[in-house]
Amino acid sequence: MPENQFPEYRAGIGFDAHPLVEGRKLILGGVDVPHDLGLSGHSDGDVVVHAMMDALLGAAGLGDKGVHFPSSDPKFKDISSLVLLAKVGSLVEQAGWHISNVDATILAQNPRLGSFISTMRQHTSKTLSVPPERVSIKVTTTDYMGFIGRAEGIAAIVVASLFTR
Ligand SMILES: [Zn+2]
Repeated sequence: MPENQFPEYRAGIGFDAHPLVEGRKLILGGVDVPHDLGLSGHSDGDVVVHAMMDALLGAAGLGDKGVHFPSSDPKFKDISSLVLLAKVGSLVEQAGWHISNVDATILAQNPRLGSFISTMRQHTSKTLSVPPERVSIKVTTTDYMGFIGRAEGIAAIVVASLFTR
């Protein structure tokens, strides 16, 4: 924590992308979204929560999620990413920071996610122990361009800001 009598503010950014594959659940923002494909990955493949973790860790100068939760560690296999997000929230708090806001954009061509946004905000904000209005989640497509447009994968970009009292 900065040794300063004035409040300090920090911003961090996170990005993540995973391939869509058969035989996996589609978990986004901690919500099980009905779909015939899911995101592959060592954990549940939740790109939204993964990008949130990197944005928060980045803002606090605490490295990235790979430092704290290495994919080589079997205990993180198929783990709910919300469990890891809760740990990141604690790490940020222990370092003396409070979450001002988190703003996420999901890049997905398929499926349509609009009706799941409010539940995603509830799950992620509850996990971070902040009110839902501090966590924004938005969805966009890439107008059929690239791997996202061909529905080969889903990505997320997140900005987080922290403050000290
Ligand atoms: Zn990831």
